[in-house]
Amino acid sequence: MALWITDECINCDVCEPECPNDAISMGESIYEIDPRKCTECVGHFDEPQCVQVCPVSCIPVNPEHVETREQLLARYDDLQAALRARLSAASAVRAGG
Ligand code: SF4
Ligand code: SF4
Repeated sequence: MALWITDECINCDVCEPECPNDAISMGESIYEIDPRKCTECVGHFDEPQCVQVCPVSCIPVNPEHVETREQLLARYDDLQAALRARLSAASAVRAGG
């Protein structure tokens, strides 16, 4: 399951840098989690890092994105592959320049 941030968020900024998948960003008025990037931290950590640091406990499971651990692991693999591809492309540009 991906997680989501409720309107109790106080914009304290501490969760964004903790996300290993860059899934958290500032929305129109409060922080948001991109469900396409959130793996519940599966693949990186035993516990969701944003939940660990949030001082007001406003990051529950997103009921619209219920997923199995296998699906979350598959997303982790996809995100890592995309990251490797970006790093490889950046490295090729540097080598070419
Ligand atoms: S659970 Fe992990 S991957 Fe999902 S938003 Fe929080 S820190 Fe990011
Ligand atoms: S840690 Fe909690 S209160 Fe702070 S910005 Fe993130 S979701 Fe909002």
